[in-house]
Amino acid sequence: MSLTATGASTRQWVEAAKPGIRSLRPYQPGKPIEELAREQGLSVDTIVKLASNENPLGPASSVLSAMRSAFADLSRYPDANGFALKAALSEKLGVEPARITLGNGSNDILVLLAEAYLGPGLSAVYSEYAFFVYSLVTQAFDAQGIEVPSTRWGHDLTAMAAALRPDTRMVFLANPNNPTGTHFSQTELVTFLESVPEDVLVILDEAYFEYMAVPETMPLVDRFSNLVITRTFSKAYGLAGCRVGYSVSHPDVADILNRIRQPFNVNNLGLVAAEAALKDTDYLARSRQINQVGMAFLQSGFDAMGLMVIPSVCNFLCVDVGCDALPVYEAMLAQGVIVRPVNTYGMPRHLRISIGVQKENERCLEVLKAVL
Ligand SMILES: *Cc1c(COP(=O)(O)O)cnc(C)c1O
Repeated sequence: MSLTATGASTRQWVEAAKPGIRSLRPYQPGKPIEELAREQGLSVDTIVKLASNENPLGPASSVLSAMRSAFADLSRYPDANGFALKAALSEKLGVEPARITLGNGSNDILVLLAEAYLGPGLSAVYSEYAFFVYSLVTQAFDAQGIEVPSTRWGHDLTAMAAALRPDTRMVFLANPNNPTGTHFSQTELVTFLESVPEDVLVILDEAYFEYMAVPETMPLVDRFSNLVITRTFSKAYGLAGCRVGYSVSHPDVADILNRIRQPFNVNNLGLVAAEAALKDTDYLARSRQINQVGMAFLQSGFDAMGLMVIPSVCNFLCVDVGCDALPVYEAMLAQGVIVRPVNTYGMPRHLRISIGVQKENERCLEVLKAVL
């Protein structure tokens, strides 16, 4: 054991952390373009990043001009209650503003929910291969995570309902799921909700909702008081860097989250950007369109290479490269293409590849072919 000048163990501040936090693995983000450029001595504009399910169109110009006009207010604190954005969301989604909670990304909301409702002696249920943040926030607040085996890479809702224990306070559902891209129907969701006790919160994470052609789920929050739906501006709305997400829940859940959130958890520019993004229906339509075309292109490219792909309704595909995926990921990096290994999800042979614009998709296929 190494000692500091004062005699304290250098691991003291790791060991002093709360038990759940001490054993946490940090979230592994996609490699930033700048970092790869530094490491490989590549120029930033030759790098293709298809690693974080970002919108390949870049931000909408309508959003940029709205943000520019908000620059003058940067010395002011943002509206802590996000009145204008909540009003716009309320109108668009047909839910009362009192049901809406804004977050610094929807990730913020997931943390707030765990902080408010999980703790030692309590448990949360989520699926195998589900978004990593569910297990992270469960553990961070010293609750026990119950991971339910998946079925064909997706959620086994029947098994999840059966896995609930008396100490379970929360279930996380990702629909569609990241990293697998799988989804379940609204009928299956309703059957699940009907089978879950009223004192268990069901967190329905719809980060990719806008990419799916499915009926609106918002009316369900009226019927099920334990349902919390989270969505984000990071994916189809093209604002991952702005960090804005939201939840729609029972007003009492929103009231609780409002008590513990940072008073100014969504910044000035984020509020303005999200409000403008909601209005830009053309941008959203183009996002969907380019995603559909890119998805079909990549899918047929993988088919031609004889690679198995998990069917996806998102803006990414999970592809089985037929061997250990890490060396493939590394070799692609060396060629300036960043994708996402998912070995930390227990999927060592898959790579998750976000759908890009045509040129990015072509380059990705070309490099993957060369590497394999
Ligand atoms: C991207 C993503 C989120 C949230 O991202 P934010 O940028 O924090 O809004 C949440 N859930 C899933 C499944 C995601 O893929």
